[in-house]
Amino acid sequence: MLFDVEKIRSEFPLLRGNAKLVYLDSAATAQKPQCVIDAVSEFYARDNANIHRGLYRLSQTATTAFERARERVAKFLNARESRECVFTRGATEAINLVAASWGGANLREGDEILLTEMEHHANIVPWQAIAERTGAKIVVAPIFDDGSLDVPAMKNLISEKTKIVGITQTSNALGTVNPVAEICAAAHTAGALVLVDAAQSAAHFAVDVQAIGCDFLVFSGHKICGPTGIGVLYARAEILEKMPPYQFGGDMIDVVDFAGTTFRGIPGRFEAGTPNIAGAVGLGAALDYVSALRPHAQAHESALLSYATEKLCTELPEIRIFGTAKEKASVISFHLGDIHPSDVGMLLDTFGVAVRVGHHCAMPLMKRLGITGTVRASFAFYNTFEEADRFVAALKKVRGMF
Ligand code: PMP
Repeated sequence: MLFDVEKIRSEFPLLRGNAKLVYLDSAATAQKPQCVIDAVSEFYARDNANIHRGLYRLSQTATTAFERARERVAKFLNARESRECVFTRGATEAINLVAASWGGANLREGDEILLTEMEHHANIVPWQAIAERTGAKIVVAPIFDDGSLDVPAMKNLISEKTKIVGITQTSNALGTVNPVAEICAAAHTAGALVLVDAAQSAAHFAVDVQAIGCDFLVFSGHKICGPTGIGVLYARAEILEKMPPYQFGGDMIDVVDFAGTTFRGIPGRFEAGTPNIAGAVGLGAALDYVSALRPHAQAHESALLSYATEKLCTELPEIRIFGTAKEKASVISFHLGDIHPSDVGMLLDTFGVAVRVGHHCAMPLMKRLGITGTVRASFAFYNTFEEADRFVAALKKVRGMF
């Protein structure tokens, strides 16, 4: 068997120990395999010391483990060098870093920041904050009713005023996969940089920063089976080198004097204070784990998406699915007739089905769709067809209650 989902599930203690749970909220956070849990606990049990500072062997072991994790991230993203990968708390912090540091240094009154209607709040609000500070303006590219990006309209919005484009590779609320390489090429012809939000995509398919041609890319460890509190900012070295520090303190400095301070090179300049060392080590283990399952895991997710979508549409004709783009990750956002999404979510929970309800941190997208929220079922490679059946059966029971 190319992809033995039962064997994979046995590697996840939370899934193994919860036979009644149908976990369909992996877009919010993924469950963790034993190898990731072990990597974190073994680090604390065996290798724990602060990094980059100690001359003693234990500190050097910890430093090596942390820097190996960075190399692992660089390989995962196909970055040219590991110094292009900065550890952050997650995708949110990585976008804040770029907006504050690069944006603060480069944006001026009249400049434009181009986003899309389907961005997560994490790729909107940091840009709004820096726009307010610098006088730059936010411009928003539209989507079609099926939740796909209006690529020609977005390209038309790119001009010499555009300084940065922020675009999600995969929408967390709809699953839409965007042609980010095409947008990068268009932005670059106008001299604009591009930040790709890979918070959702990294968990589903290979993310290659050189093939995409992006200037910045961010993702969070916890959505790809890694620990919470660790994420990555990838930035092209020549851009990162020119960016001012984002936070200040220990470990990011070269020489400190009350007369003035000089800073370390990249990426350390952007990692002030003691980082999440065990988190980075756990992330490295998660990337190894997920990479080894590809491409079969991806094919399994696509099959789950098609199976669940078809079953929902045939067995629950009143279902309304939001996001039906051709290129789509394994996310199904929907309304069940006119039952409020919160009621659907709470009742599904009574049948052991965990889904997310609400605006999914994409309020402008909800506004564009003329709704306030949806029910979102998100499938990961560890979900089964039988779970999809249980999900649909539970939804039928929910429908029967109204
Ligand atoms: N972007 C997208 C598309 C997301 O789905 C999320 C998380 N829901 C984020 C950014 C922010 O990620 P985090 O909360 O891990 O920083």
